[in-house]
Amino acid sequence: MLSMSRSVRALAALAVLTCALVAHSRINAQNADWTRPFPPFKLIGNVYWVGGYDLSTYLITTPQGHILINTGLAESAPAIKASVEQLGFKMSDVKILTATHGHFDHVAAIADLKKMTGASLVISERDKDLLETGGAADFRWGDTASARFPTVKVDRTFKDGEQISLGGTTLTTHLQAGHTKGATSFTTEVQENGKTYRVGIVNMGSINPGVTVTGMPKYSGIKDDYARTFAAQKAMKIDVFLSSHASQFKMHDKYKPGDSYNPDRFVDPAGFLKEVSELEKAYLAQVAKEQAGK
Ligand SMILES: [Zn+2]
Repeated sequence: MLSMSRSVRALAALAVLTCALVAHSRINAQNADWTRPFPPFKLIGNVYWVGGYDLSTYLITTPQGHILINTGLAESAPAIKASVEQLGFKMSDVKILTATHGHFDHVAAIADLKKMTGASLVISERDKDLLETGGAADFRWGDTASARFPTVKVDRTFKDGEQISLGGTTLTTHLQAGHTKGATSFTTEVQENGKTYRVGIVNMGSINPGVTVTGMPKYSGIKDDYARTFAAQKAMKIDVFLSSHASQFKMHDKYKPGDSYNPDRFVDPAGFLKEVSELEKAYLAQVAKEQAGK
């Protein structure tokens, strides 16, 4: 019995080690795309890409200053600044900083960018503590040192359905929680060539490794939040599909550096719904698996 339990323990240890190694190599591959630079370009109208190869950063310009959504990693600030300037805009004109959710790969450079621009940080009410604790309040990654980032003071918060307006541009906020408690999508309208395009910068409902979707000790409502998010996203009417990661809206299949500007390039309502339904399927499968295991 003893040797049996020892070998079971050894197998379990091996399984944990294998998982850690797989996760580690996956993170390294992911990190290469997270730090790889990418030239800035105009997505549509007053919406520009100033992010890296995979981590989205959106610059939305207006005559009264600009809005910057998401930042990438802590070391991304100089690259974002260079991209904004390469497009002919000034960092000092950035008036509002915000984010789709408070994880380090989207907000770690906000502290630096806030210092650089003096802009107001406006964030989802339910992710405020993530920004102000540098990730320590996160229900999944709070104890993971590598997921922590510089703390930053939030100036204003928004709830579901509020509007962020600047210089004639209005962003509507959509609380689409689950990935974090305050995960948010933004929608706005852009006019080009006499046409109105509904632009969605959508935070997709992906589930991080180690998350129990039927309930986490620090996030008991996670299951219902994910369910609400998928229902809301399936009902969203968007033309232009953008997201927190380039890979989520297949940016690199749709655009290569040097391609000419085309306002229809990222119009993909069917691709958006397909992504949502695939993530929902993964969620439902995980819920079923967790419930069967209980
Ligand atoms: Zn995340």
